[in-house]
Amino acid sequence: MELIIHSSVSKRPKADLVVVPFFKTQKGAAPAVNLPDLKGVIDPILKAGDFSGKEGATMLAYLTGKSEKRLLLLGLGKETECSMEGLRKSYAAAMKRCQGKKWSHVNFVLPKCPKLDAARAVSEGIALASYLFDEWKSKEGKKPFHLKKGVLVGTSDSAACKKTLGILKGVNLARDLVNGNALDVTPQALAAEGKRLAKQYGSVKATVLTKKELEKEKMGLLLAVGSGGRVDPALVMVEYRGAPGSDDLTMVVGKGVTFDTGGLNLKPTGFIEDMRADMGGAAAALGLIQAAAEIKLKANIAAVIPTTENGIDAHSYKPGDVYRAHSGKTVEITNTDAEGRLILADALSYGQKRFHPDRIIDLATLTGAIVVALGDLRTGLFSNNDKLAKLCEKAGEASGEKVWRMPLDPEYRPLLNSDIADIKNAGGKRIAGSVTAAIFLQEFVEKKTPWIHLDIAGTAFLEKGRDYHLSQATGVGVRLLIELLECIE
Ligand SMILES: [Zn+2]
Repeated sequence: MELIIHSSVSKRPKADLVVVPFFKTQKGAAPAVNLPDLKGVIDPILKAGDFSGKEGATMLAYLTGKSEKRLLLLGLGKETECSMEGLRKSYAAAMKRCQGKKWSHVNFVLPKCPKLDAARAVSEGIALASYLFDEWKSKEGKKPFHLKKGVLVGTSDSAACKKTLGILKGVNLARDLVNGNALDVTPQALAAEGKRLAKQYGSVKATVLTKKELEKEKMGLLLAVGSGGRVDPALVMVEYRGAPGSDDLTMVVGKGVTFDTGGLNLKPTGFIEDMRADMGGAAAALGLIQAAAEIKLKANIAAVIPTTENGIDAHSYKPGDVYRAHSGKTVEITNTDAEGRLILADALSYGQKRFHPDRIIDLATLTGAIVVALGDLRTGLFSNNDKLAKLCEKAGEASGEKVWRMPLDPEYRPLLNSDIADIKNAGGKRIAGSVTAAIFLQEFVEKKTPWIHLDIAGTAFLEKGRDYHLSQATGVGVRLLIELLECIE
């Protein structure tokens, strides 16, 4: 889909449909923008009181002798409550109405809301909602979107559209990887994706450590988790240099468990079906690199992706055994389904040694406990640095990928005390499951380095598409971290 701008509201290009925004008022609805040429059509509809203007409400009308053949009234809710996220959702609702229709050109008229960056929010809502995962649908001729060209009418801000589409490439890469079959999206496929990015962008470099090299580097935890998999584990590193003159570097570590059976602590029915999405952190890290390269973000990023299957066979790592991490610490395995923190631990300590980052952000579909706490709306944020955490919270509000800060009090640490090793990998009880996972990771982060852990177990893969996510995978983390890295100086 092409997304372009057109500044004049009155001289709109010809199209199959014009989307016109309305605010909800006490009496009903009022246009959110002045469109004299459509007044004659709109006024009777509003007078009849048939259209509410409620956020995301739509109503289709037919036009004759106008630039467009059809008019879609689109509700934005009350003007005083209008927000960036509200605009994204409303225009995504308009996109939903385009689904299955043979409309190839659509004019999206922007609302007049001087306090908001409407061009950005509307372009994001449209672009994000243009993605569907229909690879496995066999029926021919049922194209979900025929839309070829979307025109943002009423803005001259072409940079907003360009940036949105650049970031969208990264988001959609992450969505594709998460939605894709576990059989296809293997550690080797993630490595190949990193290499593809390096080939596509001069600013990107990819390095892959294979199983042999992991053995040489003594990554005992990543190797332990990988020992029961159908394929070998790997450590994929993808560097983006967008600020070559600076030595500031952000390390982004993404959990890449391409299928999580739970290991010998096998997951039961009801908990195993969506485990191909357990590489959502890795997908977001790769998506972030692509988005950054597309928009030429002025930052240096090293994505470090520990990736493996957590499979089950005679070679699987065993509960009760002790394994030695890359850092030298020993870990008693109390639950083989708490594997994400193990592979992240090795990636964190190896990555710090190799890249000496100024800050670390890890993304992981880490715990069921965070889903219980926050559902699928907010990502759990844990941090050892208030300043970085606050910036991330702000970036969450601005991007719509909201976060919620969770505690890291040292009083939780004894839950991981082991009688036979330096630490256990899981608390064993159900309490504070997402906190003890974060505390475990913190053991592998150097104290002075600002660090954020994002538990995206609830937000990376939805039970069912909603708002501007029409498929299950959200690509969460890409837009959040672009926003965050933009405000770090
Ligand atoms: Zn697991």
